Amino acid sequence: MNQLTAWTPATIGMKVDEVDTPALLIDLDAFERNLARLMRAVPPGVRVRAHAKTHKSASIAQQQIAAGAVGVCVQKVGEAEALLQAGVADILISNEIVGATKCARLAALAKAYPHAQLGICVDAALQVTQLGQAVAALATSIDVLVEINAGGNRCGVNTADEALALARAIKATPGLRFAGLQAYHGSAQHLRLSEARETAIAHAVTQACAARDLLALHGFTCRTIGGAGSGTFALEAASGVYNELQPGSYIFMDADYARNQTTHADGFEHSLFILASVMSRCNAHAVVDVGHKAHSADSGMPLIAGRPDLRYHRPSDEHGVIVGDDSVALPALGEKLHLIPGHCDPTVNLYDWYVGVRGGLKNGVVEVLWPIDGRGATY
Ligand SMILES: *Cc1c(COP(=O)(O)O)cnc(C)c1O
Repeated sequence: MNQLTAWTPATIGMKVDEVDTPALLIDLDAFERNLARLMRAVPPGVRVRAHAKTHKSASIAQQQIAAGAVGVCVQKVGEAEALLQAGVADILISNEIVGATKCARLAALAKAYPHAQLGICVDAALQVTQLGQAVAALATSIDVLVEINAGGNRCGVNTADEALALARAIKATPGLRFAGLQAYHGSAQHLRLSEARETAIAHAVTQACAARDLLALHGFTCRTIGGAGSGTFALEAASGVYNELQPGSYIFMDADYARNQTTHADGFEHSLFILASVMSRCNAHAVVDVGHKAHSADSGMPLIAGRPDLRYHRPSDEHGVIVGDDSVALPALGEKLHLIPGHCDPTVNLYDWYVGVRGGLKNGVVEVLWPIDGRGATY
């Protein structure tokens, strides 16, 4: 390791205010309450397979499993590689892959970790063929779920008949094990009104139910019917059809999720913050050292924790401008602010380390540094 790659924004025992910026802070107390709150909200008989695309961290995956999750989901083969290498042994890639190169990498993982539980989704016969060739070449095997379009209109087959045809193709392919249905309704998660989320998930449940029943008629048992995110998991949990939930953002609770109208299952707290420094006060505003390269603005600007009178805007690569009403005292040069990210997942991917803080954001102490193992694993 050279000097640069060895750089960490903090050392253990340091006060929060001494942490270098920009840094990704976890308020460990709030984070642990979120972990426990999810498990309390899930009824018996329904499994949690937390989505690790949110955090990309083996340390966090292990804590989710210790709290009761059966394993994790990821979106990418590279994320699965990073987490398997770090000891996470039950991983579903809740996504499709295509192409001989990527299928070969997945098969190599199954071969390298024969005791791990490894799964993948498909929504077309070509993916089944390519996965089959890759696992046959290495004499290994993998679980395969058929993704259905639960209403999000992104991936997934549209009819129960197509799901059945894929299940048959999986069954006919040596090394592939049919494991059930993936029925995630992504665009329902951030619908603001709880009634709108209820309508969307009622549709998803109908689709999943129709596919499950047709498969059963033809002798296929779905060990897993999975889906759900932090915005809707209570609905899937209560459906009697889904038996595996995949919430991810609940551990951090970003600013965009906080704009959802709350339901009985909510109550998750913001636990992820970007520590920013005011780096210039030359003009009639403050400028912080957090721009697009330290915060993903795809779901809107960050909020400023504890300072609702301040507003972050005009992000550029490495700058963000902080303003307030005329009467507001702007933060001074060198002052540190805690930004609540607009969207946690793509923001996390911009950092190498989580800095875990115990005892609150104001006076807390750095307790842990967790590497973001799957940072950059978009392949
Ligand atoms: C992102 C994602 C989730 C988790 O969603 P959150 O809104 O972050 O809780 C679950 N399942 C799948 C397939 C996803 O892509």
